[in-house]
Amino acid sequence: MQASQRISNILGGGSDGWEVFLRARQMIASGTPVTELTIGEHDIRTAAPILQEMHRSAMAGHTGYAAIPGIPALRAAIAARVTTRTGIQTQPENVMITPGGQSALFAAHTAVLDPGDTALYIDPYYATYPGTLRGVSARPVAIKADASEAFQPRAKDIAACAAGAKSLLINSPNNPTGVIYSRETMEGVAGVCHDHDLWLISDEVYDTQIWEGEHISPRALNGMAERTLVVGSMSKSHAMTGSRIGWVIGPEDIITHLVNLATHTTYGVPGFIQEAALFALGQGTEFEDQIAAPFRRRRDLAHKILSAQNVVRAVPNGGAMYMMLEISATGLSGEAFALALLEESRIAVMPGESFGAAAAGHVRVAMTVEDGTFEIAMTTLCSFAKRIAAYA
Ligand code: PLP
Repeated sequence: MQASQRISNILGGGSDGWEVFLRARQMIASGTPVTELTIGEHDIRTAAPILQEMHRSAMAGHTGYAAIPGIPALRAAIAARVTTRTGIQTQPENVMITPGGQSALFAAHTAVLDPGDTALYIDPYYATYPGTLRGVSARPVAIKADASEAFQPRAKDIAACAAGAKSLLINSPNNPTGVIYSRETMEGVAGVCHDHDLWLISDEVYDTQIWEGEHISPRALNGMAERTLVVGSMSKSHAMTGSRIGWVIGPEDIITHLVNLATHTTYGVPGFIQEAALFALGQGTEFEDQIAAPFRRRRDLAHKILSAQNVVRAVPNGGAMYMMLEISATGLSGEAFALALLEESRIAVMPGESFGAAAAGHVRVAMTVEDGTFEIAMTTLCSFAKRIAAYA
């Protein structure tokens, strides 16, 4: 018996770019210490008061089936939050609670794509994007955002691929680059969506990690609310990766369809997780700033180290927990550099190529280890690059 084409195609064949990550995990399993700067997960755990609320809620009996679209209080809190943050009036009926941002991405694309539809996405991209699009039987088409353009996608490049396409997926603040899309970029994106009648899926899971500039939610741009689905999550903003809680914001009729989808797939998110999420949102922006603070600090540390040399160049990262480093002066690909750094210095970073062709010649550093270890790792990475460049 054979699995379906659809599920077999999720990985798409070929190298998935995770060899360095797997090699690092092998080394750790065999007892070799490795500084892991690979995965986008905080080095702190979910805060105790949030866990206490989760416990209280479970003990109070919220362990049965919960409302499938999300409990009313959480939908209302997220609607109010989005209204405040973006200025676009958002009602609880525009909010669907999902088990994390990843399932929100899958649900959003399921809502707007039919099998065989063309779905556009921007390269560099979060590693699951092409698989998510194949998973809904769409035809993924990547549009390069060039390093020479600071990884800002250009409207004319999107427009060149847009004829006959159905949707466009963007992500700002961006994983893997840390780049925040400018107002000009967002207005260009909105223009193409209008001109070519595209759905826009806007992945905003890093919207509380802003170091420079402003986060613009494209749903707030003129006429975009009716064609935009925003993906949100508490994974990054509240260090709640394991709680699996996120959402889709969109037009009411699409949300109704998503409730039907959830009824036939996840059957909702546990009530005690939703109540803990409600509590966490109630802690306000001060708490969110506290969760983001280590990344801001480490970004400053990294920039200090990088400014003292001229081999490794940082892509200006206005947000998110990553730095994209251009290492082409070493003459190595991102993958060769990352593998050599791992073998020689026991530091694991992700090759830029893992996130698409546009990030070739780069490596992505996740700023997810404590400051002292991070500082040593960045200094070692720069010395390593300098030595290699001397022979290039
Ligand atoms: N979108 C982006 C850009 C991400 O980086 C991630 C996780 O790393 C996700 C979505 C999924 O996050 P989660 O499913 O934990 O909410």
